[in-house]
Amino acid sequence: MSELHQLTIHEAHHLLRRREVSSRELTQAVLERIEAVEPRVRAYITLTPELALQQAEEADRLLQAGDGAGLLTGIPIALKDNLCTRGVLTTCASKILQNFVPPYDAHVVERLRQQHAVFTGKTNMDEFAMGSSTENSAFFPTRNPWKLDCVPGGSSGGSAAAVAADLCIAALGSDTGGSIRQPAAMCGVVGMKPTYGRVSRYGLIAYASSLDQIGPITKDVTDCALLLNAICGKDCRDSTSVDLPVPDFTAALVPEVRGLRIGVPKEFFAQGVAPEVAQAIHDAVRVLEGAGAVAEETSLPYVEYGLACYYILAPAEASSNLARYDGVKYGWRTQKLEGHIGMVEKTRGEGFGAEVKQRIMIGTYALSAGYYDAYYLKAQQVRTLIRRDFDRAFERYDVLLTPTSPTVAFRLGEKVDDPLAMKLADVCTIPVNIAGLPALSLPCGFQDGLPIGMQIIGKPWDEETVLRVAYTYEQATDWHRRKPVL
Ligand code: GLN
Repeated sequence: MSELHQLTIHEAHHLLRRREVSSRELTQAVLERIEAVEPRVRAYITLTPELALQQAEEADRLLQAGDGAGLLTGIPIALKDNLCTRGVLTTCASKILQNFVPPYDAHVVERLRQQHAVFTGKTNMDEFAMGSSTENSAFFPTRNPWKLDCVPGGSSGGSAAAVAADLCIAALGSDTGGSIRQPAAMCGVVGMKPTYGRVSRYGLIAYASSLDQIGPITKDVTDCALLLNAICGKDCRDSTSVDLPVPDFTAALVPEVRGLRIGVPKEFFAQGVAPEVAQAIHDAVRVLEGAGAVAEETSLPYVEYGLACYYILAPAEASSNLARYDGVKYGWRTQKLEGHIGMVEKTRGEGFGAEVKQRIMIGTYALSAGYYDAYYLKAQQVRTLIRRDFDRAFERYDVLLTPTSPTVAFRLGEKVDDPLAMKLADVCTIPVNIAGLPALSLPCGFQDGLPIGMQIIGKPWDEETVLRVAYTYEQATDWHRRKPVL
């Protein structure tokens, strides 16, 4: 049997419910694992062992009483540090929020608390979720559990590394252009970005509001469905959260894809995609064909403009979202007070890192009078074209299969001085955010000891088919059972 910290949510729940293990024991095992391994991986910005043990005891009381205990009761979960947690430091990996203790919980955090999950801590990320390697954290980089001199991907690199290294049972991340799926791929775990509007963004520190979405990072597809169940649904505090019935996503976990139509868009295999990665995806398509699915190559011609479109829209939204960090209400304030304007300037100059500053400047430029039509408006028009490409593809196909990341994890420092190379890490995931679609990444192979991820993209609100395809593939393979040696 696996050791306690290695368990999935569903395995741990089984033991907790039969009272073969207590949440206290499970939580203790995860905390011991953190003590042993975290100094090498550095997945967490803040650890909350006391809170975790207190929540575990509360969960044990419920589990003993037998009623009121759910699937997440007593399960240790890690939270990305851009999700507000009442009473627990929430930094967004930025100096400007290094002392910020929110007085409220994000909607998803509230939901997990109501279900009596246990919080292990807040995970490292790229500052304000801007990046693809977790090297933009203002504090320290996280390392890839499979190879410690490689990046875990980003921006939810801390959450993905924590799941891969068994420093929690599952985690939440956020995804604006790939930040759940790309680190999940690089760390060999499952990550899902739900349809835009599925999950309330209330209490998620905003990066680019029309693209941001919260989602699960887990050890297998079953856990992904479970955790998704726990966080979805309408919340009146986020006007973009949608009032649609939330299906029980675990009902989609059936290994059945007969007659399912799979599109394999050739633009996602263009220049920059490693041949080993492309091969792994083609092999995975064959596995699904073996199970009765029908696959064919297709084309989404406008996807090519995804990256360019994103790097106008996301900085534009970020420049306005980040205007609130002014040293007045909360967060960092400069010691060099020189009148109001001077104070704001110095606070922002000291508090934001280089990548964030660059994006604020690009975004402000793209929105300014005289340039708005040429950049922001044009990018919005391109957004529509990309969305229509997907609409057309989904008239013929039930899902699209692509690589998640064009390459496996790269070495720390390898791309920090090459912003274009860094941005290309998200070339396969960004179009999905632009179109607001659900997509999941799961492990489908290895190259030189590093995991390869496959992306399954679905129709709007059709997370169920995505999960069914992922589950079918997972049942037919055993990539998800491999563990890094630490
Ligand atoms: N790497 C992309 C960016 O830097 C996406 C990040 C994200 O999804 N938060 O914007």
